[in-house]
Amino acid sequence: MAFRIATFFLLLSAGGVAGFQAWGHVGADIGVALAAGAWFLFDLLRGLRVTRWLRRGDAVEPPRMGGLWGEVGDRARRALRKRDQERLQAEDRLQAFLAAIQASPNGVVLLDAAGHIEWCNQTAAEHLGFDVARDHMQLVGNLVRDPGFTAYYAGNDYSGDVVVPGRGSTASRSRRISIQLHPYGEGRRLLLSRDVTALEQAETMRRDFVANVSHEIRTPLTVLSGFVETLQTLPLDEAERLRYLGMMSQQAHRMQSLVNDLLTLSRLEGSPAPGMTEWVALEQIMAQCESEARGLTETLGKHQELLFGPVPAVSVAVSQTELVSAMSNLVSNAIRYTPARKAIDIGWHLLPDGGVQFRVHDAGLGIAPEHIPRLTERFYRVDRSRSRETGGTGLGLAIVKHVAQRHGGELRIVSTVGDGSTFALLLPAARVHQAS
Ligand code: ADP
Repeated sequence: MAFRIATFFLLLSAGGVAGFQAWGHVGADIGVALAAGAWFLFDLLRGLRVTRWLRRGDAVEPPRMGGLWGEVGDRARRALRKRDQERLQAEDRLQAFLAAIQASPNGVVLLDAAGHIEWCNQTAAEHLGFDVARDHMQLVGNLVRDPGFTAYYAGNDYSGDVVVPGRGSTASRSRRISIQLHPYGEGRRLLLSRDVTALEQAETMRRDFVANVSHEIRTPLTVLSGFVETLQTLPLDEAERLRYLGMMSQQAHRMQSLVNDLLTLSRLEGSPAPGMTEWVALEQIMAQCESEARGLTETLGKHQELLFGPVPAVSVAVSQTELVSAMSNLVSNAIRYTPARKAIDIGWHLLPDGGVQFRVHDAGLGIAPEHIPRLTERFYRVDRSRSRETGGTGLGLAIVKHVAQRHGGELRIVSTVGDGSTFALLLPAARVHQAS
């Protein structure tokens, strides 16, 4: 600043001196005035350059000049650069924030005060059938037309959620999306969506399961208490008393089998898959299964011809208890659903890929194709009364499927009504090695 004042006065003095030398005293005044004018003009031009540059908003290239205007330009440049950096940082933060919301497993939609979609992530678009670009600033009420959502949106009570059919939902394959609104800012709303299809299915399965178990237990219980009442109130002779006691024992047995199967299933679901440490020879497993099967034909009095084939000389990495229980379930089904004196083939076979399969083939009733995909559902039976008559719980094949899956294998069913059925439990090659 001092330099600026000094140069100003120096210029005035120089103008005064030059004017004085040219025209005397009057010339000195004119020289001072001309010097002042020239100084202001020069200063104005420099000022104009700086303002023009500022108007362009170019933070990189300020006009090159010294003095006060040079400093103004420099400071303005620094301020502009700082502002640009802050804007870039804010932009980066916003992008990172949006990327985080984009990655969210939940759908997120930002609505303005009037209900227009300001922004939504891909998950929300997928849940609700929006097109991120096309539906920008569309009214959400025009896009989600479910009456439940319309009432929820208008109701202004967003303490709970509302469940609507999701994109691609059909009558046979319903997809359920939960939506909850959260007010924020000035009248704005945040819409969160979540796919609850699996949750609702699990809830339905749980309800069905409880209802099924209660029903399965209630039936033998009702029969039992009926018999108890009869024994208490009616004078029965010895033969009749024994007959009633026999039937009671049968019902008690049925309840016991049901509870045992339920416990087996819950153990299978609640424990980690069997490791690869316990190697057992297939022959040993087959021997255990054979003695149980022969015992069962005796108990049921059906006397089928059980044909146990040769067993490959391999060891398998399995849980022996689980595998024997799965095999026994398949054999017991074959015995129970095959008329007396018909043959049942039971055997282990090596597969070309190095795996093994346990196969039970019967020439029994057979199963219609529409039932086959559902046989492994809990309590699913083709013929409810036949299953009960023969002491079935409706859980046997669910157990077999679980055991197969826990060992990385699978259960395959081939059946023709009237011709019989083949049930095969496959174990993968990783769980098989040649017996030493
Ligand atoms: P259950 O205890 O009723 O036998 P499972 O889960 O073992 O229950 O079997 C489910 C249903 O599959 C049975 O009720 C029966 O209708 C059918 N099923 C199973 N095995 C056979 C078979 N070998 N032959 C004919 N039907 C079978």
